[in-house]
Amino acid sequence: MHLDDLYRQVIMDHYQHPRNQGELDGGIKVDLKNPSCGDEISLRLKVEDGIVRDVRFQGSGCSISMASASMMTEAVKGQPVDKVLELNKAFRAMMKGEDVDPDELGDLEALHGVSKFPARIKCATLAWQALEKGVQEPRQ
Ligand code: ZN
Repeated sequence: MHLDDLYRQVIMDHYQHPRNQGELDGGIKVDLKNPSCGDEISLRLKVEDGIVRDVRFQGSGCSISMASASMMTEAVKGQPVDKVLELNKAFRAMMKGEDVDPDELGDLEALHGVSKFPARIKCATLAWQALEKGVQEPRQ
């Protein structure tokens, strides 16, 4: 199978079967919109002792934005905030077309192709923007 096809399958799978979708009691809430595409995300985070204990999202938008949000929640759940911020940096770098170690990104590498479409980069980074905002908020 061609790698692009595999990546497309990963993205469609997350879009059709989003992981960690829904509400969370308490925690940090971040709502963000991407007006250029109409994507909306509401992210919920529970951070304790410097670790992202739980993360959920709700939203609507294009397949890229929703798949990216789903993939992001899987990548950061249970991870220390330091590592989450590192991953966020690596993901943003990939979206800018910079070379990033694929091992660092894991499944997120499937979104690599989006970096070639400047109009869609905001779709892919929306959930990560929300995440970055959320983990840096004072503890609640
Ligand atoms: Zn979009």
